[in-house]
Amino acid sequence: MAGRVIVIGGGAAGALSALAARRKGAEVTLVRRALGATSVSSGAFDFAAGVDQEGRRLAMPRAAQVIAREHPRHPYACLGSSLADALSRARALLVEELAALGVRGADNDSRNLELVTPLGAMKEAALAQGSIARGDLASWPSDARIGVVGIVGHAATDPSLVTNGLRAGGRDAVEVYVKLELDPQSALADLARLLDGPTKDAVLTRIALAAKEVGATHVLLPTAGFDHPDAVCDALCAMNFSAAAELMNTPPSIAGLRLDRALNDRLMEAGVTVVIGDVKSTSANAGRIDKLLLDDRELSADAFVLATGRFLGGGIVHQERFREPVFGLPVFVDGRDVGDMWTGDLLDKHAANDQPAMRAGVQVDARMRPVDDGQRAVYDNLFAAGAVIGGYEAARDATGLGVAAVTALVAGEAAATKTSLSRATTGSSER
Ligand SMILES: Cc1cc2nc3c(=O)[nH]c(=O)nc-3n(C[C@H](O)[C@H](O)[C@H](O)COP(=O)(O)OP(=O)(O)OC[C@H]3O[C@@H](n4cnc5c(N)ncnc54)[C@H](O)[C@@H]3O)c2cc1C
Repeated sequence: MAGRVIVIGGGAAGALSALAARRKGAEVTLVRRALGATSVSSGAFDFAAGVDQEGRRLAMPRAAQVIAREHPRHPYACLGSSLADALSRARALLVEELAALGVRGADNDSRNLELVTPLGAMKEAALAQGSIARGDLASWPSDARIGVVGIVGHAATDPSLVTNGLRAGGRDAVEVYVKLELDPQSALADLARLLDGPTKDAVLTRIALAAKEVGATHVLLPTAGFDHPDAVCDALCAMNFSAAAELMNTPPSIAGLRLDRALNDRLMEAGVTVVIGDVKSTSANAGRIDKLLLDDRELSADAFVLATGRFLGGGIVHQERFREPVFGLPVFVDGRDVGDMWTGDLLDKHAANDQPAMRAGVQVDARMRPVDDGQRAVYDNLFAAGAVIGGYEAARDATGLGVAAVTALVAGEAAATKTSLSRATTGSSER
């Protein structure tokens, strides 16, 4: 009989851990306090990217292996020989669980998508929400004239940054300026709402006219709305363009909010109980966690997954010293327990230099159990997933949501397996 798993944290790592445990038959409760880093992410899912010695792009699994080899504290490295299998199953988990957002990779699975950021930089990602994946530059012909849409008077949608970046990469790109009466403070969210409602066709017609005037054959939108981004891109494409796509988003990210909402919908559909609350403390017995104390109640389970994020989510706090506030787990930077160090000693005053503090987090074994400085599991039935695990820096090594998905899959399955094992041993059916 499957047992009970409690997941703490409602970002991508928490939601995917809960779904992975549910797929293994566990009864799952997820506790979340608020939105975290997931809700500001761009709409793309970075797993790993890199080039070989001749400068040729590496396939994602190979790039992940290189990261694991060169960064032995990276969560990918903890997985050892099971990394390739975990990457492939985590990728499939995202595609299946986020089908409502049309999440997909490149037509040829062995390469990453090649996407353009709102700052005009090129970026590789294993997967992206469907409306963004349409903008995979490698699938657009080299003679495409790419129209980048901006709203007159709104810096939040400055298309010249993107066209400059595209031109620097040898692409033909042109700005498409559209005049819309929008609040300067909330231009993107307002445009998104216009594209969600009955105003969609009128707005797209204005965009199409402006794009045709400058000869665009392909169009990049700053947003495709909250509700039906793929349909918005289809409707624009049908106005005689070869392709229409949404740019990756920057915070406040409409794509990030869409991701958060889609994950939450999947939790409901999959029968996960979602509790809004703040886990204040926990109790343990004989090396096992048995209870969580929320604001106003206690919850017990057979296994637990900690997926509280890092600094944005609140999973790692730094007030003079680093702390993991829920279980009081040791926090590591580059393999060293930094619980007694002043956080300022792990930061460099030059922003562009390496900032070890940014890699702070718990350290895990191959089953994603947080370990102490002797590499021993701190609690037998506690697992961790996502950015609360240290050893990597999503902004620098571009493995953010890839780590969230891979560690969530392993932690969620291990937690579910743990519950059935412990029930088989004790014969317990206590609720
Ligand atoms: C601006 C930005 C852009 C990014 N863009 C990309 C991108 O393009 N591609 C990519 O792959 N990655 C990207 N990332 C990285 C990626 O978003 C994160 O690595 C990932 O979302 C982390 O997910 P998580 O679930 O571990 O943490 P979070 O999403 O931070 O979730 C943590 C959750 O834990 C909850 N929580 C914390 N403490 C408690 C408690 N005590 N009780 C209850 N709940 C609690 C929080 O409320 C929250 O729900 C980006 C990050 C940022 C900041």
